[in-house]
Amino acid sequence: MRFVSFRVGDRPGWGVLDDEGVVDLSGGAHPRLRDGLDAGGIDALVEAAAADGPRLDPDRIVFEPPVPDPRRILCIGVNYRAHRDETGRGDTEHPTVFVRFPSSLVGHGQPLVKPRETRRYDYEGELAVVIGRAGRRIDPADAPAHIAGWTCFMDGSARDFQFATSQFTAGKNFDRSGAMGPWLVDAATFGDPSRSRVRTRVNGRTLQDATTDLLIDDVSRLIAHCSVFTTLEPGDVIATGTPGGVGDRRDPPVHLWPGDRVEVEVDGIGVLANEVIEG
Ligand code: MG
Repeated sequence: MRFVSFRVGDRPGWGVLDDEGVVDLSGGAHPRLRDGLDAGGIDALVEAAAADGPRLDPDRIVFEPPVPDPRRILCIGVNYRAHRDETGRGDTEHPTVFVRFPSSLVGHGQPLVKPRETRRYDYEGELAVVIGRAGRRIDPADAPAHIAGWTCFMDGSARDFQFATSQFTAGKNFDRSGAMGPWLVDAATFGDPSRSRVRTRVNGRTLQDATTDLLIDDVSRLIAHCSVFTTLEPGDVIATGTPGGVGDRRDPPVHLWPGDRVEVEVDGIGVLANEVIEG
């Protein structure tokens, strides 16, 4: 199933997308998608989707990130060998983890804002996992039971700000500089996360193309590691890292500019597409 969060005018909502459109489930027991996850994980969303609701024209909704209000967005750095090599970074004992604020992300179809202060605005296509069940110090073997589902992630990065110091925070958190969506695919539908293909296109040109069996730390290990230091809660997002081929490391570099169209496609999910504006 494909779960979406959206706005119609000023009204936020969520629902399920099928071939005929979006069924608005906001009028039920869970006004927002995360309310459902808080109440009962992915099972609560699937149960809510069994009820009927008003039908919305997908062309008239504004997509928000599938979880617009996560308590945590944890991003994993340099988690594919090809990307680690192109950045010149060595191996580390632990996964590289940094955070993004919810305000740094837009939903599918919404403009990505290239900060006026950067001339090195870059794309990173990624697979992201959404937590459905809380846990601390989760054993890797138990990690799958904590997963609600999956979505596409565009970890938009202002490289000059990212690398100006040893901390990534500024370069990864410009308002509306990244994207998540288009929807949340439940874990049962998505299936094996180690068999997925992640591709990033800019203006139709494929610049990243990898499969998730190449992740240095797989999703279960990432969940285990992050839950060592923080209690993971329903709706939390872990972006699993980007493959090789980022624009800033290309020769010549490929940076994003107003008018560019960025697409992140993950097999089994769909295409997250956004156009870049100056901001
Ligand atoms: Mg990234």
